[in-house]
Amino acid sequence: MQITEIYKSLQGESTYAGLPCVFVRLTGCNLRCTWCDSEYTFQGGRKMTIEEVRDEVARLSPGGGLVEITGGEPMLQEREVVPLMQSLLADGYQVLLETSGERPLERVPKEVIKIVDVKCPNSGAGDTFRVENLRSLTLRDEIKFVLSSRADYEFALEFTLRNDLAARVNAVLFSPAFRKDATGARDSSHCLLDPRELAEWMIADHAPARLGLQLHKFIWDPALKGV
Ligand code: SF4
Repeated sequence: MQITEIYKSLQGESTYAGLPCVFVRLTGCNLRCTWCDSEYTFQGGRKMTIEEVRDEVARLSPGGGLVEITGGEPMLQEREVVPLMQSLLADGYQVLLETSGERPLERVPKEVIKIVDVKCPNSGAGDTFRVENLRSLTLRDEIKFVLSSRADYEFALEFTLRNDLAARVNAVLFSPAFRKDATGARDSSHCLLDPRELAEWMIADHAPARLGLQLHKFIWDPALKGV
């Protein structure tokens, strides 16, 4: 499979945030979100076998731990990524899969925790979530909405309520988008939607969701890759 990078850091944007985690970042994406901070994954990378990826994960986190399969869009390489996830589970790892949910998810092993990033209108990739994927969600999974405007918030809230997401998954996350050229200050000034404003909307609406912040962007320079 085509891999952009494999590295160890802290998980940054789910209920697993703050835990040490090995990231396996696959190359290629079929979407073009306006605020994408992973454009360097769109091409390049290097071919690696499942065995080579397993060996690298084992080197970075011997004996188990958290592994996140991400991208780009990892499910574009479903034929290889599904056996990879099965192997990592068999090796004793807890596996997270970050995906937009635009590709079918029914072949993802049930033990894998899916973090599904449903695209909102202002992402430029709205309407790409495959509604049939709701049937593949379990109470271990998480749904994330990355928000850059009030319209995005209203979409996310309506989608959450209409599909009763709070009862279907472990967590529904509302997360402000970060400016993709952000660099320097490690604070919320780079957020395209003020977290305080989002918090106040969520409180006023009793939103059945939790506010998420991209932890790694408050720890390291937001422009830094591989963290
Ligand atoms: S789905 Fe992810 S990697 Fe692809 S364009 Fe959107 S933010 Fe970037």
